[in-house]
Amino acid sequence: MQLPTYDDVIAAAARIKGHAHHTPVLQSATADARWGAKFFFKCENFQRMGAFKFRGAFNALSKFDAAQRKAGAIAFSSGNHAQAVALSARMLGMPAVIVMPQDAPAAKLAATRGYGAEVVLYDRFTEDREALTKGLAAERGMTLIPPYDHPDVIAGQGTAAKELLEETGPLDRLYICLGGGGLTSGSALSARALAPKCKIYGVEPEAGNDGQQSLRTGSIVHIATPKTIADGAQTQHLGEYTFGIIRRDVDDIFTVSDAQLVEAMRFFAERMKMVVEPTGGLAFAAACAALEGGAGKGERIGVIVSGGNVDMARYAELLAGR
Ligand SMILES: *Cc1c(COP(=O)(O)O)cnc(C)c1O
Repeated sequence: MQLPTYDDVIAAAARIKGHAHHTPVLQSATADARWGAKFFFKCENFQRMGAFKFRGAFNALSKFDAAQRKAGAIAFSSGNHAQAVALSARMLGMPAVIVMPQDAPAAKLAATRGYGAEVVLYDRFTEDREALTKGLAAERGMTLIPPYDHPDVIAGQGTAAKELLEETGPLDRLYICLGGGGLTSGSALSARALAPKCKIYGVEPEAGNDGQQSLRTGSIVHIATPKTIADGAQTQHLGEYTFGIIRRDVDDIFTVSDAQLVEAMRFFAERMKMVVEPTGGLAFAAACAALEGGAGKGERIGVIVSGGNVDMARYAELLAGR
């Protein structure tokens, strides 16, 4: 197994240029004063389709040869990866099939169809989505793009941290939201190349600390689907590629509670006027907790805000504390 490298991130950056947004790096004097550090927020909530996942999907689909383009891309996801593959396929003029559970939120089904993908529904309780997707892929000759464990997806996700570090110069710490590890491993490739002394931290929900267990035990730990509001990080295990990079390059993995995520969302809304989804608050919540414990005081801290896709009624409920 050949792990992707920073050269692959550089190549991905060239492929997505002009197609993905170069998202802003924001600062907050309030955050700096309250926690006693200098924060740099890479705002992927402002990325196309509302999350960094566009970077990896567009990079992967851009590399298809003529036959692959003709048949198109297939993915299984009910979250941001579905919309990322659907939008990338439309922009590149190829068909896309997204396999989603029958009971996925109507807004997500509509958004995925809105980007022009064909949605194939399955029953979560009686059907095996992986087998279904692989069957469809074989039948139609489509290329399956997984949400994180793929070298081209990882390289694409790494472009966010590349842009961040090129803009800020070296940072002391970089906090990254962690699910299956595509964003964390890609970011680690960029950070190791551009800021060798920067500490790299993945952050997952307290209810699902499989990544932390994996890093500490040295092999991929599988868990049951965790119960958390961070729906973008409800993964059951890291991937082979993502774990290979994480175990080599990531300094540690932290966890935060759902209550800490709501506090992070509230800070982004009140102070920075940003809508951030629960999963998008993981990195900031962990950075704040570390500072409250005295770690990172006075340092330059990068925070990847990974996405902003949250149902507005749900968002209001969370901020209202219900
Ligand atoms: C997918 C996702 C994550 C987790 O990314 P991985 O590459 O699976 O670790 C974090 N935040 C948001 C908003 C996501 O959509």
